Amino acid sequence: MTKNEARTKVEARLREAELRLTPQRFAVLECLTRAGGHPTADELAAEINRRFPRASRATVYNALKALRDAGLVREVLSEQAVTRYESNVESHHHFVCRVCGRLEDVPPDAFAATPPARLEGGHSVETYEVVLRGVCAKCKRK
Ligand SMILES: [Zn+2]
Ligand SMILES: [Zn+2]
Repeated sequence: MTKNEARTKVEARLREAELRLTPQRFAVLECLTRAGGHPTADELAAEINRRFPRASRATVYNALKALRDAGLVREVLSEQAVTRYESNVESHHHFVCRVCGRLEDVPPDAFAATPPARLEGGHSVETYEVVLRGVCAKCKRK
């Protein structure tokens, strides 16, 4: 994605979510959209700092929280109790390599999975995410 495409996409999403467009939120979402993948808040802060040297870690965390609450970024559970974020909020699954820790998107139609709408005890299911674990192609070649 080019810089301009990312910028237009980010502006449209912030407008749609009716989230106040602060420079910090814009920078965080733009960075996440352009880089793709599943960075941690610290990785994002480091990346943003290269371009905006005055963005503190707390600023990045707060922006991520606001973006998450507005449904514009998604938190991804992963190993080592580290929270990762992604700008892809469409339903999809993840693959985690147990050797190198690589975390990749798996498209929702890659396999059949149908969660129940309700669970015992009266819980309503709204979204679901399957984490597939194994060895990635790169590690298998070694
Ligand atoms: Zn691997
Ligand atoms: Zn993902």
